[in-house]
Amino acid sequence: MNILDRYHAMEYGPAPEARNEADAWLAARDFGRALFIGGDWKAASGGKTFETSEPSSGKLLAKISDANAVDIDAAVAAATKALPKWSAASGYQRAKVLYAIGRAMQRHQRLFAVLETIDNGKPIRESRDIDVPLAIRHFIHHAGWAQALDKDFPGHRGVGVVGQIIPWNFPLLMLAWKIAPALAAGCTVVLKPAEFTPLTSILFAEICERAGVPKGVVNIVQGGPEAGVAIVNHPGVQKIAFTGSSEVGKIIRKATAGSGKKLSLELGGKSAFIVFEDADLDSAVEGLVDGIWFNQGQVCCAGSRLLVQEGIADALIAKVKTRMSRLRVGSPLDKNTDIGPLVDLTQLDRVKGLVAEGARQGAVCWQPDAALPSSGYYHLPTLATGVSPANILAQEEVFGPVLATMTFRNTEEAIELANNTRYGLAASVWSENVNLALHVAPQLKAGVVWVNGTNMFDAACGFGGYRESGFGREGGREGMFEYLTAKLPLGPVIKPATTSAQPVEQPDGDTIDRTAKLFIGGKQVRPDGNYSLAIATAKGKLAGEVGLGSRKDIRDAVSAARGAKAWPEATAYNRSQVLYYLGENLSGRAGEFAARLTELTGATPKAAREEVEQSIERLFLYAGLADKFEGRVHQPPARAVTLALHEPVGVVGIVAPDSSPLLGLISLVAPALAMGNTVVAVPSERYPLLATDLYQVIEYSDIPSGAINIVTGRSAELAGVLAKHDDVDGLWVFADAETCAKAEAESIGNLKRVWSGNGRSLDWASDEAAGDAFLRRAVEVKNVWVPYGD
Ligand code: NAD
Repeated sequence: MNILDRYHAMEYGPAPEARNEADAWLAARDFGRALFIGGDWKAASGGKTFETSEPSSGKLLAKISDANAVDIDAAVAAATKALPKWSAASGYQRAKVLYAIGRAMQRHQRLFAVLETIDNGKPIRESRDIDVPLAIRHFIHHAGWAQALDKDFPGHRGVGVVGQIIPWNFPLLMLAWKIAPALAAGCTVVLKPAEFTPLTSILFAEICERAGVPKGVVNIVQGGPEAGVAIVNHPGVQKIAFTGSSEVGKIIRKATAGSGKKLSLELGGKSAFIVFEDADLDSAVEGLVDGIWFNQGQVCCAGSRLLVQEGIADALIAKVKTRMSRLRVGSPLDKNTDIGPLVDLTQLDRVKGLVAEGARQGAVCWQPDAALPSSGYYHLPTLATGVSPANILAQEEVFGPVLATMTFRNTEEAIELANNTRYGLAASVWSENVNLALHVAPQLKAGVVWVNGTNMFDAACGFGGYRESGFGREGGREGMFEYLTAKLPLGPVIKPATTSAQPVEQPDGDTIDRTAKLFIGGKQVRPDGNYSLAIATAKGKLAGEVGLGSRKDIRDAVSAARGAKAWPEATAYNRSQVLYYLGENLSGRAGEFAARLTELTGATPKAAREEVEQSIERLFLYAGLADKFEGRVHQPPARAVTLALHEPVGVVGIVAPDSSPLLGLISLVAPALAMGNTVVAVPSERYPLLATDLYQVIEYSDIPSGAINIVTGRSAELAGVLAKHDDVDGLWVFADAETCAKAEAESIGNLKRVWSGNGRSLDWASDEAAGDAFLRRAVEVKNVWVPYGD
């Protein structure tokens, strides 16, 4: 046998991580008093417990207190009591606590890693080298934000008591993503871990005791959906931060509708892993190992759809199979293990079921010839080829070690396939041509894009999704905003519209009848239903009639907005000039608009003139900001730069209020347009003629067809149609409280981003009703990771 033969014949010996410290910790604790509330350890008031067991053996690890609504009440009360002092503490005081948490975690790093692996089943290499260090980094990074709060987020304060609900796939890391920014912002928290994986959160609560976290600032309650529901519905909670499945995310969106609670949702994914023919195939294969077999594929941003360019498909698949054959499936506590067990038998059954269904639908499912351990919830890494885009393995989140493969011919097809999903969490692009990669990245509907890499995370770089992957970001500056609230200048309470009830008298004199239509796709069109709405002057006389828009008109308007590619693709400078031009053209007709305002609203000529002037000023403001509200470049502790790009949300529906009908409409439409969104606006129901008078101004201002569409009619009805429309990406509603609540509840189809005034208008004339707070709602932050070095 020569040296090479010997080398190839070498086998791995066992390399087990010691677990005695973890076992001693488990043996010493009273898990019947596992609720950490107000700094004390409590039993569940209902006396119930649930079991957590070891996925590699199925053996029971502990019986844990199972919280019910009474315990959640107690936890929210403790968080409420602790809030005034914690939120009033100086940034430095909070920074010291966050730093102390990070340092204490470092001192118990190995115990955290071993416990995580025992409880979740993830290989020790991952919990030791990825989960725990990243969690620590989160606390230390956010210590800095605590101190920078006043300077970096002027006018903002912590949102209050926060309810946080997390899943089982990264128990400690998700806890860190939730708790660190909340504490930095001056919030107090009630966090509920997932019922499969409570252990590291209990150790974390011990760390809080040692790190001097004031009692009640962090409350950790163990339990299942019942406890989760109680948190979501609790009136004492001002924000819900949820990570978990899209299904539960939608339930929570509906449950919080109309409550005024701030909400962030980090949900599922079906992320594309795109390999172009000029990629370094060996690197791409290693990337795939990380992309889909990391944590057994139980990763929200797992690269579970391999899209490979036709010419290299056979070569890449061959390499993938060879590499899969070398993946080591075994005890998660063995340092050589690549693939551990899934978290639970139910998860294993789910994955097996999806693979069987995928095969039934025509996929060819291949697995390496490897033996599975005799006990535990193991599933072999699986490669599905011949997958049609409609196959369940291409569409559903499997959350297991299963890779679905499809081929593409050219760049356009790759992008189309990648975006052919209801999710939008992450994507990976592999090409040695950085120009190509950076051409593709902005076209992918995903919150994170990794170029020639995958699953890179950092506390400074925002993470979160588009579409049904949820909304909000975790990490970085944008993650801090999720726990802060800015004081917007409140306007009047909006009452339900009453246009239909108003008697309208015929006008005096012999005016020429003018027909105000809808404005869709750059044209004035009649409403589909051919009904009109009579609009009264302030004196109750007929001022004119506008089209009564319907579901069909909204559909046409959304389709025009979706098709208006010229606007989102225009340069920011170009958009800026168009908005200036719009302001210029409005100023040319300022007198006419002021007269209309007076006629309709009864405003004094001076007040009307002022509203028109402010509208022009606001157009100028957003014209100027169009090319200034930009993203950032992060330098995470990795050989990579992260480009945090500001991208338009997409098609934004806007329901404008009656108060300041011209200024209110322009204050909402202009920031949306400035950031490259296309708009379907429903103007004030009472004073729509101000919007219909704008058609000509818009037509003269070089705005591409479809970039702005205006549908007049009944606000409540049209808001509902926009909320339910799955091709609307964002919806801003300033209407009565019931309409706002309904819009939030009905937005769950595609989880569009809803900004609701909760039944209040804003004081549109105030300077604070403009600027960054509006622009932030008009963008999605996409983080594109670009590694460097050979
Ligand atoms: P899940 O939605 O079933 O449960 C998540 C959490 O919600 C658990 O703590 C659970 O007890 C609780 N819960 C369940 N029903 C609830 C209800 N009606 N009201 C309130 N809380 C409720 O998800 P899971 O199976 O634990 O986790 C897997 C999912 O999480 C996957 O879809 C994955 O993609 C997603 N995930 C997303 C991210 C991200 O950042 N986007 C990160 C990790 C995991």
